[in-house]
Order: sequence, then C-alpha cells, then structure tokens
Amino acid sequence: MALLRTRALGRADLSRALGLSKTALGDLIADLGAEGLVVENSVAENPSAENPSAENPSAENPVSLSAPRGRRPALLRVNARRAAVIGVELSATVFEYGIYDLTSTLLCVERLPSRRTEGEARVYSQLLGGIRTALERAGKLGYPVAAVGVAAPGPLDAQAGALLMPPAFPELHRLRLRSRLEGDLGLPVRLEHNSAAAATAFLRQHDGENFVYLLLLEQGIGAGLVMDRRVYRGAHGYAGEFGHVSLDVNGPPCPCGNRGCLERLADVDAICQAYAGRTQADLTLTRIVERAGQGEAAALEVLEGAGRAIGLAAAALVNLLDPSMLVLGGPGARASPFLIPAIRRELQGRAYPYLGWGEHLEIRACTLPNPVGRGAAECVLNALYRGDLPLTQPRPAIRPELTHTGPLNPPGG
Ligand SMILES: [Zn+2]
Repeated sequence: MALLRTRALGRADLSRALGLSKTALGDLIADLGAEGLVVENSVAENPSAENPSAENPSAENPVSLSAPRGRRPALLRVNARRAAVIGVELSATVFEYGIYDLTSTLLCVERLPSRRTEGEARVYSQLLGGIRTALERAGKLGYPVAAVGVAAPGPLDAQAGALLMPPAFPELHRLRLRSRLEGDLGLPVRLEHNSAAAATAFLRQHDGENFVYLLLLEQGIGAGLVMDRRVYRGAHGYAGEFGHVSLDVNGPPCPCGNRGCLERLADVDAICQAYAGRTQADLTLTRIVERAGQGEAAALEVLEGAGRAIGLAAAALVNLLDPSMLVLGGPGARASPFLIPAIRRELQGRAYPYLGWGEHLEIRACTLPNPVGRGAAECVLNALYRGDLPLTQPRPAIRPELTHTGPLNPPGG
C-alpha cells in the first residue's frame, strides 16, 4: 500500500520492489482489492502521466516506471475513496478541520475562529462539534473516516496524547485530549505538535532530507526539525519549542516563565504590537507587509527587527544542525519577502562562516496551504500506511452512503 501511496505502479514494478513472485503478488493484490484498498486500471494513456506535478505527487496522474511504448500495462493505485482522515489545527486564532482522502488530497476544509479563552468545556465542545461536522461531511461525500489527527501548540506529549502547558491555551493545560476525543468519537485520534505536523506536510511534498521548518504563528514560533527525512522529537517528545529560545535576559516576560523569548519579539502579535508602538496604528500583519512594500520606514524597521531576531535564534540552530534549508510557514510567513533577507543577513554575521552558510543554506517560504492541519492529516495517514492504525474503521453511521466506493469489510470483519 505504501508503495502505491504517491504513484500508480504496474505489477512488474511492484513485484521487483517487493521481491515477490508473480503468484505471491497476485494473492496480495487480490486481498487488497477485496478490501477495496487498491484498484487496477489502464488509464496510463493519459499523456500527462509522464510528468506528474512535483508539487502534488498525489494528483490523479499515474506513473509507470517501466511502461514500454505502445502497449501500456494496467496500473495499480490506492483507492483514494476507500477512506478519509480528518486533519485538525488548533491555534490561538483558528480551529481548522480538513478532510483528506488516502492520497492526501484535501476534499474540504472549514476554518472557524478559536474560542480558546472561554474555558475548557467550551473549547473542547467547539473542537468536538467541529470534528463531528467534518465526519458528517465526509459521510455525505461518501468516505468512511479512519482516524483523526489533531495538531496543537506545544509543549505537548504526543505519545500520551496530552497537552502540557501551551501558553496559547492556558485553560487546557494537562488535558488528555486524545483519550477524551477517542471516547467521544469512537475513532482513533493522534495528537501532534503543530510545527512537527507542518514539517511532516512539507516533507511529504518536497525533497529535503535535513531542514528546519519555522512555524510563525500569531502567538508562538515553533520549529519542526527534520533529520534524515525524519521529524526529530527529542528524548521526551517535546522538541521544537524554538519560540522560547531567550534572546534577551532582560526582555519582556513570557508565559513560559522565561524573559525575552524569540516569540515575544517576532511572532505575528509581537510584530503588530511593535508596529503599533511606533505608529499608534493597530494594523494586521498583511497591512504592515503592504506598507513595507510601499517603502514605509516603520513597517520596514519592524519587519527587519523580527527577521533579525529569528536569524539570531536560527544561527544557533544552523550551527548545531547544519540544515540544508530553513522553511518559513504559518501566518507570519506572509512577511517572508522582508523576513528572509533580514534572517540571511543575521545568519551571515553569526552562523559559522567557514561552513559557507551564505551560499549553501536555502531560506524559503512554504507555499503549501494550511500546512498544520494538512500535517495533522499526514501524521495519521503515515500511521495508517505503516499499519499502526487500522485502515478500515467500520462507521455504521455513514456506511449507507458508501455503496459506490467499493467493497466494505463485512460487519464485524
Ligand atoms: Zn517563552
């Protein structure tokens, strides 16, 4: 299944890749076909099949590695309609609920303002209600939902499925979110750190073995650390709290207990506050970026300051990890045209010069839409393809609408 996740393959290619005989592969394919998990057809005549979109490897463009000219072999592919997953982003400003099929294609998404300050009961009920609405939508689209992924600000314990003490959610500290949602939804749920989720989404769409994904949020800055194509989580699973690197021992206090943390100087709220402090104008980041584009000095200086703070903190990361790329994502990434030159200037002055950071380190903005919610979905899809979660969840409430998607497991099977 995992081999077919991003592209359609012929039996000969699969047989070679898996080291299976023709007969053994035939049995395997028959089993997967009976489950409705793979489909086999000969749509390779599609001329675009030779050049699938690099940005979207899950596009409906099958590729055959060995298709000879002339007669085209039948291709096997994942039956994208067999199941869906829900990817949820919890952030200080928005709760996002996306439905993704088995090839990571986004089917629909809803973004609602976060009610995070209204107490645990209300926040949880908003979250549960949003997921239930997404489940109903998936049912109407004809997809059974296999699992739910939730990406939230850290620190959190992904293994235990618990939020720890995210400053953006003071009323949800120590909430065992996964077990509570699993109990209420009757579905497997996975909890993921938001920056690790965004890095996972980026990793799936782009080449890049070693990179740092800087998630620039309204409140907070996280780092998804990717090493050898794996998201690094640290000894206790809490890695990535980049926003709490202290840059100024006498700086403004941070809810984490430290002072002068990066995110107090460079997250979206900090940029807007710095701008308001200079101009008395209460503007969104989008407007500040517009003004910077028009050459306004205050806007340019505020964005330069934020970029230099990020660059100063990132110099330590770069010296320690030697990444090939820094990726800026999240709402703050809309200031990338101004942040990136400032980050680069700071890195050139501070990261180890003999290692040639100026030439070799790529700094780019992530163009992937909704990377955090998408990453939450990718994390559960990864678990499904690894076999850590069952791909076939019986969902009696929505099964009647699935008759055209292929055979379902028999009841209790
Ligand atoms: Zn802090």
